[in-house]
Amino acid sequence: MKDEIKFAQLRERMVATQIASRGIDKRVLEIMARVLRHRFVLPEYLDSAYEDHPLPIGEGQTISQPYMVALMTECLGLKGDEKVLEIGTGSGYQAAILAEISKEVYTIERFESLAERAKKVLSDLGYKNVKVIVGDGSRGLEEKAPFDRIMVTAGAPILPKSLVDQLAEGGKMVIPVGGSFSQALLLVEKEKGKVKTTSVCGCVFVPLIGEYGWKR
Ligand code: SAM
Repeated sequence: MKDEIKFAQLRERMVATQIASRGIDKRVLEIMARVLRHRFVLPEYLDSAYEDHPLPIGEGQTISQPYMVALMTECLGLKGDEKVLEIGTGSGYQAAILAEISKEVYTIERFESLAERAKKVLSDLGYKNVKVIVGDGSRGLEEKAPFDRIMVTAGAPILPKSLVDQLAEGGKMVIPVGGSFSQALLLVEKEKGKVKTTSVCGCVFVPLIGEYGWKR
């Protein structure tokens, strides 16, 4: 109980100093203040759960920096009734944020160990609208397409055609695209069959490995 009060204070401070101060909208701030990020990190990083940087989660992967989670969420402009696809479940934290402001979330992770851990934490926290799938997310999830929103939380060498094809008309996708050490965060919008791409900022993500990503 004492710990939960301490984490609530750290969460409040994270939102004020790292996210609100960088101009993220109010709705996303409210969600970032609600989701228990410390439950998604490894026990050895508990004290760093609300710090302004990514953290290791095992398998050489990371839980993203809180600000990047907030920024990517804001880019999707969610209203609450969307079907969302996330590629790169990792810890499950971003999936929980998406589950708070959309109707249903499908999230794909290539490492079974990470997917299993994320599934358990999400279930323990009562998220019923998230489905965690093990597989190559660079291919998307054809059987559930089209998606109103797609978020890719690993860096791709080029915009994967598979994901553009599975984006609904009027849909939005956010994805890091570029080299294996740094990328541009792209917002991809599909309007009347045309695809518009806008660069949001520079970013650094672990690689998207798969058929439509890096080959390894
Ligand atoms: N969204 C995560 C979170 O909230 O913790 C952070 C994701 S981490 C930066 C990127 C994740 O993408 C890693 O867990 C990695 O294993 C996964 N990944 C990389 N390529 C993938 C692929 N083709 N399909 C599914 N997951 C992939």
